[in-house]
Amino acid sequence: MHHGEDQRRRFLKGAATALAAVAITPRARAFSPDLAEPAQSTAAAAPSVPDQPVSCVQPFALNQVKLLDSDFSRATAANLRYLHSLPVDRLAHTFRTQAGLPSHATPLGGWEKPDCELRGHFSGGHYLSAAALAYASEGDELLKTRGDELVAILASCQQPDGYLSAFPRSFFDRLSSGQKVWAPFYTVHKIQAGMLDMYRHAGNQQALQVAMGIGNWLVRWLNGFSDADVAHMLKTEYGGINDSMYELYAITGNERYRDAAHRFDQASLFDPLAAYRDELQGLHSNTQIPKIIGAARRYELTGEPRYRRIAEFFWETVTQHRTYATGGSSNDEFWKTAPGDLKGQLGLYSAESCVAYNLLKLTSHIYGWNGDPRAFDYYERTLYNARLGSQDADGMKLYYYPLRPGAAKFYNSPTDSFWCCTGTGAEEFARFNSNIYFHDGKDLYVNLFIPSELNWNDRGIVLRQETGFPREPRTRLRFKLAAASRFTLHVRIPSWIGPDATLRLNGETIDAFASPGSYLSLQREWHDGDQLELALPMSLHAVPLPGDDSQQAMLYGPLVLAARLGGEGLTHAMQYCGYDAGPTPEPAVQPASRFSSASPRSTDWMRVVSADTLRFEATTRQGTVPVAPLNQIYGERYAVYWQNDIDASSSG
Ligand SMILES: [Zn+2]
Repeated sequence: MHHGEDQRRRFLKGAATALAAVAITPRARAFSPDLAEPAQSTAAAAPSVPDQPVSCVQPFALNQVKLLDSDFSRATAANLRYLHSLPVDRLAHTFRTQAGLPSHATPLGGWEKPDCELRGHFSGGHYLSAAALAYASEGDELLKTRGDELVAILASCQQPDGYLSAFPRSFFDRLSSGQKVWAPFYTVHKIQAGMLDMYRHAGNQQALQVAMGIGNWLVRWLNGFSDADVAHMLKTEYGGINDSMYELYAITGNERYRDAAHRFDQASLFDPLAAYRDELQGLHSNTQIPKIIGAARRYELTGEPRYRRIAEFFWETVTQHRTYATGGSSNDEFWKTAPGDLKGQLGLYSAESCVAYNLLKLTSHIYGWNGDPRAFDYYERTLYNARLGSQDADGMKLYYYPLRPGAAKFYNSPTDSFWCCTGTGAEEFARFNSNIYFHDGKDLYVNLFIPSELNWNDRGIVLRQETGFPREPRTRLRFKLAAASRFTLHVRIPSWIGPDATLRLNGETIDAFASPGSYLSLQREWHDGDQLELALPMSLHAVPLPGDDSQQAMLYGPLVLAARLGGEGLTHAMQYCGYDAGPTPEPAVQPASRFSSASPRSTDWMRVVSADTLRFEATTRQGTVPVAPLNQIYGERYAVYWQNDIDASSSG
């Protein structure tokens, strides 16, 4: 977005002079222009099957993409080591005791403590999802075995009517009678989703039976309540229970599951979004996103345009107008301000990790409908900054991603936290291979520059991507083909790409390029051994905080940079927390950059020290400050946002 029109035109002009042997069509698609006007009537006569496919592109199965050595594969390995450290009998403990079965295991702590109202969300939910994803992505047999064992134990704890939880049914009585209770449906969603992941990604048939049992219990339970009763209950966080019930419908075709999922439509959230109104101010961020993912799933299964509108408008307003430079969103877990205004929102508890996780999940749904490369500009920035940097070397995860200048990261403890973000992190760090490549049945899309090998088995196509990106500003794509094959390869040209980007095919420079934020599309007959080398020049660019030009972040390519402010006074206890997200380190002083308020996008106060090792340096009022990518900063204070020198002087 930081590129001017002149550069865009130059890129497009270049594209017109493509080599005759290679047809090149730069394109940037608009978001669903056919859906620009809200339809008059959408509630009636919802088709059970969409008239036409809603997806234009789809991701490959997890076992078709293998990560090669990179920061992502190393982060995956750390996550799996952590998951290996959790014994099944401890995970199963509260489910067994709730079902009246003997258990002698030491209970887990934090949000899995036997008296915590959220118990079971990680142990019987996120853990199963993560184990299934790790098996599909990495072939982790140990986690598949552990997952299978846990499914069998939880099946033995499931009641004859399908009820399955580590807490008693009385929690649902409290929900329906308006008494205070944490989030019973949120927890049941995690368990049902964990079972469905074990079925889909690890082939566990028993897990599908358990998920159907939960679905049957839920259908009967909901039958006892009017829509008005349910509307009242939806004020309590219910996670993505609509999403998992739609998924159960997609697998089984049983319309009772779909109809039950419909009952979790929350008019107070969905209606304004369907009318393109952002009324999100004051709402708890992570409570809303899973509901929207459920709406996205509804659109995919029924074709009702209202639900596409809800999901697309929500994505647009949140990712474009409510996010920090890292791609994260929320402060103290809420959206406290109007869209486009994050003034005063750089907190110790900003950018809850689950929010970024769920926004990425939503992004891949929406990208599947429109193939818009803009979706991957957001995805990539969030992945590298709000996600990759949220884990330490032992697999511990961040809850919040502090953005108050001078703060430090603080992580969960191994067995005494089990925050929501511990759970979503365990899932995400088991599937970094999931969105690198897409296809539309015929053509191939390369969206991320992560070292990996794609095996498109039924087309006889293997594509190997080798790169040291972002330490190396290029990527190489090599085809291994069973036979020559004609198709179009769409390579994403990121919006951050610098001038002088080039593409070489089998060593020859192609005299064309696509504009930043679009695809470079190569239509030709591909042969075994064909090689593409894409230069990805990166440069420094400044991104002001929305609504406050006196604060700016600096990026290098997709990487958010941060001032390294040292680890003085930081103790282990400050950085690794138990049940509560505290005590947290007090922030140090915010560095003031030397940029003039007249040119808040100036970058001349920062320089690249070493592109190979991603080391940078800033000139500030406090002197020279070392700078590194935010996702590489551990055990020290940092600042993502730099203060305008002039404003700092005048405010003392
Ligand atoms: Zn969370």
